[in-house]
Amino acid sequence: MKNLRIGQGFDVHKFAEKRKLILCGVEIPHTHGLLGHSDADVAVHALMDALLGALALGDIGMHFPDKDPGYAGADSMELLKKVLALPEFAGYELLNCDLTIIAQQPKLAAYRQEMCRRIAQTGNWDISQISVKFTTTEKLGFTGRSEGIAASAVVLLGKAGD
Ligand code: MG
Repeated sequence: MKNLRIGQGFDVHKFAEKRKLILCGVEIPHTHGLLGHSDADVAVHALMDALLGALALGDIGMHFPDKDPGYAGADSMELLKKVLALPEFAGYELLNCDLTIIAQQPKLAAYRQEMCRRIAQTGNWDISQISVKFTTTEKLGFTGRSEGIAASAVVLLGKAGD
């Protein structure tokens, strides 16, 4: 493996009433969902920014402008497929992805497997390459006050050298 590229992404969305809570493509029952132009899947947004960052391709705001009505209510998993279909990804494979979702509530541990499965399925990756972790901020800050959810992601991509 000659060419290794690392990328990191971070995103935040705030809670709002009458919205679905979608994390890693999984709908989580909760009193509030996340507000955003798309489905506001904060975890997948962080993952896409990590993938784009690894190949120095800008960020998701550049690729999927929130002013574009075409992306209103967009399924972030479909956006992830679009990112992976960019010609620059040709020849690269995902070695691993490590995602952290920072939320005081709701409790998410029960959804970990399903989240990993959905990401692996969408990217055509093996589930062993995908890590999804959860943490709180001990009731400190905006996530601690349950005003929103943050997510951070790191990916490592590799391309076989000659
Ligand atoms: Mg976002």
